[in-house]
Amino acid sequence: MLKGAESEPGTDPASGKPLSFPRGVIVPGRSEQKTRFAPSWQTDCCIVGGGPAGTVLGLLLAREGVSVTLLEAHKDFEREFRGNTINPSVMEVMEELGLVDRLLGLRHAKIHRFTAQAADGSVTFADFRRLKTGYPYILMLPQARFLELITAEARKYPNFRLVMGARVKGLIEENGSIRGVRYRGPDGPREVRARLTVGADGRFSQLRRLAGLEAVEASPPMDVFWFNLPRKPDDPEDAGAVFRFGPGSLLVLMDHSEYWQVGYIIRKGGYERLRDAGLPALRHSVAELAPELADRVGHLKEWKQGSLLSVGSDRLRRWYRPGLLLIGDAAHVASPVGGVGINLAVQDAVVAANVLGGPLKSGRLRARHLAAVQRRREWPTRLVQGAQTVAQRWVVSGTLDASETFRLPVLLRLLLRTPFLRDLFARLIAFGAWPVHARTEAGDTSKCGEPALIQ
Ligand SMILES: Cc1cc2nc3c(=O)[nH]c(=O)nc-3n(C[C@H](O)[C@H](O)[C@H](O)COP(=O)(O)OP(=O)(O)OC[C@H]3O[C@@H](n4cnc5c(N)ncnc54)[C@H](O)[C@@H]3O)c2cc1C
Repeated sequence: MLKGAESEPGTDPASGKPLSFPRGVIVPGRSEQKTRFAPSWQTDCCIVGGGPAGTVLGLLLAREGVSVTLLEAHKDFEREFRGNTINPSVMEVMEELGLVDRLLGLRHAKIHRFTAQAADGSVTFADFRRLKTGYPYILMLPQARFLELITAEARKYPNFRLVMGARVKGLIEENGSIRGVRYRGPDGPREVRARLTVGADGRFSQLRRLAGLEAVEASPPMDVFWFNLPRKPDDPEDAGAVFRFGPGSLLVLMDHSEYWQVGYIIRKGGYERLRDAGLPALRHSVAELAPELADRVGHLKEWKQGSLLSVGSDRLRRWYRPGLLLIGDAAHVASPVGGVGINLAVQDAVVAANVLGGPLKSGRLRARHLAAVQRRREWPTRLVQGAQTVAQRWVVSGTLDASETFRLPVLLRLLLRTPFLRDLFARLIAFGAWPVHARTEAGDTSKCGEPALIQ
């Protein structure tokens, strides 16, 4: 029996009820329960952040038989404008996990192509129907539904535990290694001790800051103000994602089939000016860029109907420290160009599970395994961020800095007429720079690894 397990059962931080621990979980002894963060409990892997990266990693590790604790700061997944896109690469992973039919059973829309429309005509710069995949589209699905599905599946495994409303405040560090986290949960301060802590806590990562990991800037910054406008029955069907270029302004329209998701792109720090100019000015500008929506811009009545995405794209130099790995936005904040942040986050999770599942189960996790995750994911991330930088410098900044209506550069138009290049953009958006695949076989969940600290 595990140390302390016979003394007194612990309590589930989420429900406060006594826990029946799976193998691999230590119930705290009486002495530990007297400490400020008592009762502490132990797991193989503690994941901080229930976004796409954290939930998918949690599910994949739980399937492999690793004991996982996932801590999410919010009490539910209902948050607006976190990005509602599921790219073909994620669809293929969902198929590998046997979840694709359930995903497609949820209310969704599909985007088959991205089109740029400027004063001198339009050009399709990514047509997903040309790709060799069973899922030649971007699935538009509220992110909350996706996260609920993933966590519902993960909860089927007794070795998976999700604590909602648990905000991590500190790292437990011993002898230069991270041994877990301290968090404030629904029932007060707690701690989780883990062989591995994964920071999947997004673009404002607390773990990145606490661990003192250094970042380099990846793309020039910009801001996007997102909001929704209603769709009407006679709007064009299957419009996809449309980028509209005007004089000094750029608008993205995404067809959700029941509504339009609208992104108004502005220079970094331009939000104050946008607000100072007032909502009528914004409505006017949107109507100019998208005259077909002029009859409904009035639905935008308050700033709080929208959400500002402050884009500061960067990437960590090192994604890990002994006992700690960062993935998803916590490791590399994505620019919104191409809508690939969720894709990158899920791909990180898949690679992390493939590389770390075995060592975590056997208790032989070393820093070199964490380095291997960074090695496999850093270049694909850099390539995507590099392409985003080119698009931002060449097209987005060119538009925002122009006093006249932006015209797509002739060279770009010619390049986009080349099927190879057009497919290259589509492939980069759909699959990233390096496709990843999940292990389809679930592991033996009755044999969770015994806890052991990383040396
Ligand atoms: C307005 C907006 C629109 C976007 N649109 C798109 C899009 O269309 N397509 C696309 O691919 N990407 C889009 N993105 C980017 C995308 O949301 C991210 O790239 C992606 O969600 C990253 O996933 P993640 O799991 O790494 O982090 P996140 O999704 O940010 O998840 C991090 C989680 O960690 C939790 N957390 C944070 N701090 C703590 C803490 N201390 N303790 C516990 N939990 C914590 C947060 O509550 C959150 O749930 C958009 C982003 C924004 C902000």
